[in-house]
Amino acid sequence: MQAIDYVAPNSVDEAVSALAAGGDTARPLSGGTDLIAQLQEGRSDLDTIVDVKRIPELTAISIGGDGLTLGAAASCHSINNTQAIRDAYPALIDSTHLIGGTQIQGRASLGGNLCNSSPAADSIPNLIAHSVICHIAGPNGRRTVAVEDFCTAPGRNVLERGEFLVALEFPKPPANFGAAYLRFIPRNEMDIAVVGAGSSVVLSDDGGTIESARVSLGAVAPTPLFVQEAGEALAGQPVSEETLARAAELAKEAARPISDMRGTIPQRKHLSAVLTQRTLRIAIDRARGTKTVDELGRLNGHG
Ligand SMILES: Cc1cc2nc3c(=O)[nH]c(=O)nc-3n(C[C@H](O)[C@H](O)[C@H](O)COP(=O)(O)OP(=O)(O)OC[C@H]3O[C@@H](n4cnc5c(N)ncnc54)[C@H](O)[C@@H]3O)c2cc1C
Repeated sequence: MQAIDYVAPNSVDEAVSALAAGGDTARPLSGGTDLIAQLQEGRSDLDTIVDVKRIPELTAISIGGDGLTLGAAASCHSINNTQAIRDAYPALIDSTHLIGGTQIQGRASLGGNLCNSSPAADSIPNLIAHSVICHIAGPNGRRTVAVEDFCTAPGRNVLERGEFLVALEFPKPPANFGAAYLRFIPRNEMDIAVVGAGSSVVLSDDGGTIESARVSLGAVAPTPLFVQEAGEALAGQPVSEETLARAAELAKEAARPISDMRGTIPQRKHLSAVLTQRTLRIAIDRARGTKTVDELGRLNGHG
C-alpha cells in the first residue's frame, strides 16, 4: 500500500503552491470519479492529491448577461439543478445527465471530465460546440485556452507542471443559438460512447438560414475532434436536409477512429455522420425554440 498526502487548499494561490511543491507526482482532485478509480487500479502513480473543491471559485456557478462560468469542480448534479442553465444551455444538460448515474453526477465535474482528457468524454464535444474558454492557473499566473485546443492526446492536455483548470467560460449565446449533444452506446445507460457528437448553430432571425455552426465528435480520434470544415460548410446555407447531409459527410470524412471492443472503423464513421445530422436537427429546433431539454432527455434514454 502506498501513502498519499491529501491537501485541501482554500484558494487558487494555495492550490498552485501545493501543486508546485508536489511536482510531477501531485494531481488535482475534483469529484474523484476518474482519479480514485485510477489510483485503485494502480493506473496512477501519485504522492499528493490536491483537493480543489474547497476553493470557492472552483465550485461556483455564475450565469447572467455575460454568459455562464462554471467552476471546474462544480458537480454535474449542481449544474442539472440550476434552472437558469437548463433554460439557457439545454445542450449542456444533455452531457451532464449522461455522465454516469445519479451518484456519479453528485461528484463528477466537467473540469474533471475535460482534464481526464478521454477521447470519449461526454462533455468535451459539447464544450467545443459552445466555444468554451478554459481558465487555467499556475506558477506563472493565469491564462486561457480555447477548449478545442485543450486535449493533446489520450489522457493528455495542455496543462503544464503545477497548472490546474479553474473555470469553464461559456460565452453568452447569440440570438437564435441552439446546440445539442448525442452519443451512441450499445445500451441505454452507463456506458462509454462508441461515438459522441456535439453541434451548435446560429440561425437568421427568420430561422431559415444557418449563419454559423460548430460541429465536434468524440471517440473517433486520439482527442475530441473539432470539425471546423463541417461548420464552415453550413455557414450561409439554407436550413435543409441536403445542407445537413453535406456537413454530416464532412464529419464522417474527418473522423479517424480505431476498431476496438466497442465498435469498428466503418461503424464509427457511419455514426459520425448520423449523430452529426441528428444533433444539427435538434440544435436547429432549439434555436427556433421548438425543443426542450426534457424532450431531448427522452431521446437520450433518460426520463
Ligand atoms: C460508474 C462511472 C460511470 C461513468 N460514466 C461516464 C459517462 O457516461 N461519460 C463520461 O464522459 N464519463 C463517465 N465517467 C467518468 C467520470 O465520471 C467523468 O470523467 C467525470 O466527469 C470526472 O470528473 P471528476 O470531477 O470526478 O474528476 P476527477 O476524478 O477528480 O479528476 C479526473 C482527472 O482530471 C484531473 N483534474 C480534476 N480536476 C482538475 C482541475 N480542476 N484542474 C486540473 N486537473 C484536474 C485529475 O487530476 C484527474 O487526472 C464515469 C465514471 C464512473 C466511475
